[in-house]
Amino acid sequence: MDLVCLDLEGVLIPEIWIAFAEETGIDALRATTREVPNYDTLMTQRLALLDEHGLTLPSIQKVISRLSPLPGAAQFLQQLRSDYQVVILSDTFYEFAMPLMVQLGMPTLLCHRLEVSPEGRITGYRLRQEDPKRHAVQAFSRLNYRIFAAGDSYNDTSMLAEADAGFLFKAPANVIEEFPQFTATEDYNVLRQLIDNAAG
Ligand SMILES: [Mg+2]
Repeated sequence: MDLVCLDLEGVLIPEIWIAFAEETGIDALRATTREVPNYDTLMTQRLALLDEHGLTLPSIQKVISRLSPLPGAAQFLQQLRSDYQVVILSDTFYEFAMPLMVQLGMPTLLCHRLEVSPEGRITGYRLRQEDPKRHAVQAFSRLNYRIFAAGDSYNDTSMLAEADAGFLFKAPANVIEEFPQFTATEDYNVLRQLIDNAAG
């Protein structure tokens, strides 16, 4: 039994915070863990910025629903799901990802949750667990699945290492250089071929 685990942002959809910063013109929201290495500090800063600009969850979701999956992503995923079970493992939040998941045909998504007040103010966030991608692959392996995984960033490498075969997809040059053990591609057709080859 084979299962494909895919990262979401940078693989199937744009980076949500960056796309959101571009749509709203709030430049400070472009900061990532590269600039602010501590994730909690970064999220606290992001939530304060949203509050400062009076952006509630419904208004954020309206902006996100104007975004589209990456070109070719929806077709790739649809074809992949006809031959494999697919689970998306992401460090985003359900509340942000949902408008884009609809456009991707609602695949299974394991990610995190936001805490939202009745008025729609985002008051905090809840991570499902530490190192969630690695734990998910370990759990699926114990269910007797062979796992093939693809992702684009540092937070994917423990998932790729844990999988039976792991691939970098649309990864930045520094990640490709640092993790030469994972075959890298930017092309959905090549990724599909890599998965098929690994599945034998
Ligand atoms: Mg990513």
